[in-house]
Amino acid sequence: MKINAKLVSKLRKQRSWTQEELAIASGLNLKTVQRIEKKATASLQSKKALASVFDIDVQDLDHEEKPMTPCPECHSEKIYKFTKTIETNPECLPHMLPKLGSGLTFYSEFVPVVCEDCGYIRYFADEKARSKLSTSKYWELLD
Ligand SMILES: [Zn+2]
Repeated sequence: MKINAKLVSKLRKQRSWTQEELAIASGLNLKTVQRIEKKATASLQSKKALASVFDIDVQDLDHEEKPMTPCPECHSEKIYKFTKTIETNPECLPHMLPKLGSGLTFYSEFVPVVCEDCGYIRYFADEKARSKLSTSKYWELLD
């Protein structure tokens, strides 16, 4: 099955692990880790092992680049994505999704995507923030 190889490689590098060290930590063999990062396919068992070693949900490893066009707000095709990752002060993050904790996913690169026509900007909330939405008095569900 498909796996987000970019994310696996990123989480590994965040820990300054080589592929070999990831193999040891996850109990997978080195060839498996190499194949996962190169071909972006993994068995469910391998995915579970990686999710556990990175302390994330198995479904988070399914996450693939979603198409960024059209704009979800105005359906424009004129969407621009910043070509670099933004470094933000972690203390600023709670202000960007107020009352939801730190809020932004630690593993998605923080890359702004802006619609040229309406100015709509997108970024991703982490699972903890999302789990608070339905019970928060500060956030309302839109019809
Ligand atoms: Zn738009």
